[in-house]
Amino acid sequence: MLPGWNDCQRRSAAKQYRRQIEAQGFDLRSNKPTIGAAVGTSVHEAFAIAFTAKKDFCEIPKNSQLVEAAVEKLKKEAATGMEWDDTTPNLGVASTQISRMVSMCVDSILPVYTPYRVEYEAIVSAGDGFEFSGKLDLLTLDGILIDLKTGAVVRPYQAQLGGYSLLQKHEKKETGEAFSVREIQTIFVKRSPKYKAQDSPVVSEYNLQTCEMAAWHSIESIKSCMTSFLKSPDPWTFAANPMSMMCRPQFCPAHGTNFCKMGV
Ligand code: SF4
Repeated sequence: MLPGWNDCQRRSAAKQYRRQIEAQGFDLRSNKPTIGAAVGTSVHEAFAIAFTAKKDFCEIPKNSQLVEAAVEKLKKEAATGMEWDDTTPNLGVASTQISRMVSMCVDSILPVYTPYRVEYEAIVSAGDGFEFSGKLDLLTLDGILIDLKTGAVVRPYQAQLGGYSLLQKHEKKETGEAFSVREIQTIFVKRSPKYKAQDSPVVSEYNLQTCEMAAWHSIESIKSCMTSFLKSPDPWTFAANPMSMMCRPQFCPAHGTNFCKMGV
């Protein structure tokens, strides 16, 4: 929820707190998954299998096995319908893109990092009855926290990365791990159009303290808005941003509903 909160609080709330919002008499749309998100989930599947194998057995599955696992994941995601886009108009193109993206991960990312923990969930009390949870992609033996990103363009993710860092600090306390996160990075693997060559991954480093501050303030803001909404269920508790790139019916469950009439 953290990356999108300051883009449009109301859309974030509609996605995260559907049950509570509908219980107050508001209607929300049921959107199909988007192909951008589905390709991301599928590449993550292969990424997790590959790094887990490297961690547990010091070996890497064959590229074809990883691609097969990722495409299977995509088919499952698409089983109930899919919002395709111009970059990925159908399953055939998606499979080609996934194959190229997985191969890029295997060739350029896998050899560089030594995994300590792979795809693990962490949860912590955020106070006042709230819980804060997240799934962390990769923590390396030398203390680098890595989040794999896929998509059309590189975007900044300070609040989300800061959230992961805070969760990992909690994990460290719980498990008695001997080292701290010393660096935080995203690795961006582009979902390039089929007719273009696959771009190389882009590694971005972030300032740990800035990320943690961004996360902390977003969490406090979410808690405050949601607490107000539960006391007095008014959609205007959540700021709406119709200038957001995601202010479209296919991306926003509140679009055109009685929870938000700002989208055009
Ligand atoms: S319709 Fe637009 S402004 Fe309203 S919640 Fe959705 S993204 Fe935000």
